[in-house]
Amino acid sequence: MIVSPEGMNDLLPDMAFFWNSFRSKALETFGRYGYLPIDTPVVEQTALFVRSIGEGTDVVAKEMFAAISGENLRRWLEEGKSPKAKSLLSLRPEGTAGIVRAVVQHDLVPQGAAPAKLVYAGPMFRAERPQKDRYRQFNQLGIECLGSDSPTIDAEAISMLMDFFGQIGLPYDSFKLLINSIGCESCRSTYREALRSFLLENSASLCETCNTRIELNPLRTLDCKNADCQNVMHVAPKITNYLCNECKCHFDEVKELLCVSSIPYIEEPSLVRGLDYYTRTVFEVQVAEGMGAQNAIGGGGRYDRLAEQIEGRRTPGFGFALGFERVVSALSSIGIEPHVARSLDVFVACACAEAYKVAFSLAQACRAKGLSADFDHQGRSLKSQLKLANKFNALQVIFLGPDELDGNYVTVRDMENHEERPISMESVVVELVAALTKKSESGPA
Ligand code: AMP
Repeated sequence: MIVSPEGMNDLLPDMAFFWNSFRSKALETFGRYGYLPIDTPVVEQTALFVRSIGEGTDVVAKEMFAAISGENLRRWLEEGKSPKAKSLLSLRPEGTAGIVRAVVQHDLVPQGAAPAKLVYAGPMFRAERPQKDRYRQFNQLGIECLGSDSPTIDAEAISMLMDFFGQIGLPYDSFKLLINSIGCESCRSTYREALRSFLLENSASLCETCNTRIELNPLRTLDCKNADCQNVMHVAPKITNYLCNECKCHFDEVKELLCVSSIPYIEEPSLVRGLDYYTRTVFEVQVAEGMGAQNAIGGGGRYDRLAEQIEGRRTPGFGFALGFERVVSALSSIGIEPHVARSLDVFVACACAEAYKVAFSLAQACRAKGLSADFDHQGRSLKSQLKLANKFNALQVIFLGPDELDGNYVTVRDMENHEERPISMESVVVELVAALTKKSESGPA
């Protein structure tokens, strides 16, 4: 049997339904803060991710899925003709790079314009070792705000995220919000030197990976999960002690605004996040209990130089992304399961073969008037058709048998009180619309 690729899951109807309502709730909530939807391709030129996320990051160095057209691949393998840079593509491992590329390409933030506030949702791809809550294809919902470096943007976006968690029923006490500032290039280079010296002094106690990071990307040693490394890093120099005056003021203002909005946070000086483009504010939302190692449900931060890194003009930005599958796990760990209560307005049951054509037309007429309708497509017995109507939670069943066909009427059964009544073929749809509208206005019995 051919199954889905490793680490890539199907979203079956209940989950796909929940993903849709998750997205609509986000569009509605974020819309109140001025965010508009955007969609970018799931593949981009590999160079975009290398330049923005950074060559030395795990995401780019180890986890990208290359995407290359069959013809290019054939020419490469069979004729040794290496593809042109622009046809070297990768499946997107995250959303920010593509959106900043789109903002630059379409000049969405002309000089002096108000910030572009954008929201996106879709699949991301990372060739990670699959495990619970860590997949190779997963769905992210995120926002990007480009065009302002004001701390009000950072605090507004974080409080908007908290607002969204409230909308989907994730209570404050089920997660913690960690925040940090990793400064700008100038304060970070002083810090990087101090950290490098510290790491060299303690290299014997660090794991192999951290030793390779000392020169390549020393900041990444801060979030190593190895217990020995964590002991050492406990006493490592802290970035917040190296912030320049401007970065310190920026961070202080973000924290003050979060306090004003009564948003509890924990300052975590070792939080650096894995991507190179971040500057100043970074944050992560971690589930307090019940999710094991993959407990980060979302995170983000400021990226004031990213647009320049991909040859745009200086356009400071801030963004975050939520992992949909991890949010589902977080909800499930507190007993909230995605459940879709489905019901069908009308089921048309046929008691003779001649009734099927009429059932087909009646179902179509109901749908045209905005009702959901279905009938049996497999020639089942009347008893089985009724079972099907129950399975679909049908509110009304229309019976069509030889008597009804001869008399040009139908028998309608209200599935709630089991009352049956004959209605003429011409008026049945109008009457059902009226009955179902009345029922939905008076609410559930
Ligand atoms: P990141 O861009 O790595 O900060 O990812 C943002 C969010 O996406 C994380 O907080 C997770 O919730 C989610 N995420 C990242 N990688 C994966 C993955 N491999 N599988 C499932 N969710 C992921």
